[in-house]
Amino acid sequence: MAQGGGGSCKVAVKSHSKYANYDTSTMKAEIGSAPIVKRAEKHSIDDVHELLRCPTCADSMFPPIHQCPNGHTMCTNCRRVHNCCPTCRIELGNIRCLALEKVAESLELPCRYQNLGCNELLPYYSKIKHEKQCSSRPYTCPYASSECCVTGDIPFLMAHLKEEHSVDMHDGCTFNHRYVKSNPHEVENATWMLTVFNCFGRQFCLHFEAYLLGASSPVYMAFVRFMGEEKDAKKFGYTLEVGSFGRKLMWQGVPRSIRDCHKKVRDSQDGLIIPRSLALYFSAGDNRELKLRVTGRIWKV
Ligand SMILES: [Zn+2]
Ligand SMILES: [Zn+2]
Ligand SMILES: [Zn+2]
Ligand SMILES: [Zn+2]
Repeated sequence: MAQGGGGSCKVAVKSHSKYANYDTSTMKAEIGSAPIVKRAEKHSIDDVHELLRCPTCADSMFPPIHQCPNGHTMCTNCRRVHNCCPTCRIELGNIRCLALEKVAESLELPCRYQNLGCNELLPYYSKIKHEKQCSSRPYTCPYASSECCVTGDIPFLMAHLKEEHSVDMHDGCTFNHRYVKSNPHEVENATWMLTVFNCFGRQFCLHFEAYLLGASSPVYMAFVRFMGEEKDAKKFGYTLEVGSFGRKLMWQGVPRSIRDCHKKVRDSQDGLIIPRSLALYFSAGDNRELKLRVTGRIWKV
């Protein structure tokens, strides 16, 4: 008997707290027609968000948010730059807009990459930090970060690589690639090549390029990047090999995420590095042409 009473009491408390969490707009939603109020809710969030945009530079404002004696708000950066209010030209004092800071604190906003699959709702003040690290944020085209600034998710980038860069696509986890360059002594002008492999249902980029290691050592370098997050890249391993005449140079590595830009991976020397003299020896030519066969394999750890 006493137990049963306790149970119903619990239910009552629960339903009470449910109502306590309802804001007035939700209450209206139960009375009026839902779609109209939903639109109103969305509007009010957009309006508040608009209030939190600096009227001068259009950046989101974070504490300390400033205002002029007439109440025009501005971000910390704009306050630093201007002596007079950019809106009404009155001289700026040192007035903070605590009310707006408090409003921002109470806001929860969806991640800006919601359309790319992130379902997180974030407090205003940690939203930007999350978005910088969000695993749904778009990737940069892995072709050449300096020349192409297209961004998107992996399926979009695959289509982009095929259409815009005419990249070689291969299915399978072993490869055998021949790199030919007619004037291997022009290292600084060497173009770098990209091949994409489809294996284990994921995509991998094989990079090959020539550059100067340090100030004066011309080398060729090959490495693999993974089209996805670093935590998933670590689930794979790969080998790269070049050789001939009974000599062989081999590299075993872990693919790097394409979150790490091409240059970062190159400069960390995380791949197969072949000194030019050795590459030409393996090419077995007359020193005027590079003909390097790179073989390799990708596997699941
Ligand atoms: Zn500003
Ligand atoms: Zn003003
Ligand atoms: Zn996110
Ligand atoms: Zn591109």
